[in-house]
Amino acid sequence: MAIRTIVQEGDPILNKVCRPVTQFDQRLATLLDDMHETMIAADGVGLAGPQVGMLRRLFVVWDTTDAPEEIPEGYEYKFIDFINPEIVAVSEETETHYEGCLSFPGHNGAVTRPAAVKVRAQDRNGQWFELEADGLLGRCIQHENDHLDGITIMQSSDYFYEDTEEGREAARNAKEN
Ligand SMILES: [Zn+2]
Repeated sequence: MAIRTIVQEGDPILNKVCRPVTQFDQRLATLLDDMHETMIAADGVGLAGPQVGMLRRLFVVWDTTDAPEEIPEGYEYKFIDFINPEIVAVSEETETHYEGCLSFPGHNGAVTRPAAVKVRAQDRNGQWFELEADGLLGRCIQHENDHLDGITIMQSSDYFYEDTEEGREAARNAKEN
């Protein structure tokens, strides 16, 4: 496994639409394993293909549902790989929460999304599965899925700001107005 470079803000690759994955081979498995390692090293909970320079419809998330607050050494992370994902249903109820993104370090966006989703995707062997998710996992799936269509928190957020005292203040004011 290897840590890959995370594409940063300003790179046009982040706004491109990704192509489907057609080959379920060792190369794909290596890419996914590298993405797991890269995401954990960067302290993230999700990472999408374009963020490591791959314009393919795939992303990985860390399923934090049963994770302890303090991660012990040697902890076995529970990852879920989503290949060629499709969001097939969304809840009517929406929630607004702050989101960060490994491609926009030091920035946050307040994003309004459906509170729950149903997603259909293939695993690394090409097997289709369906998953219903809400909370952090549901939000993470929607955030990563947006990346596959070239949509980042800069586009999806109600307001986007630098994560500093001034930035937060400006965001608070924007919300009140
Ligand atoms: Zn992101």
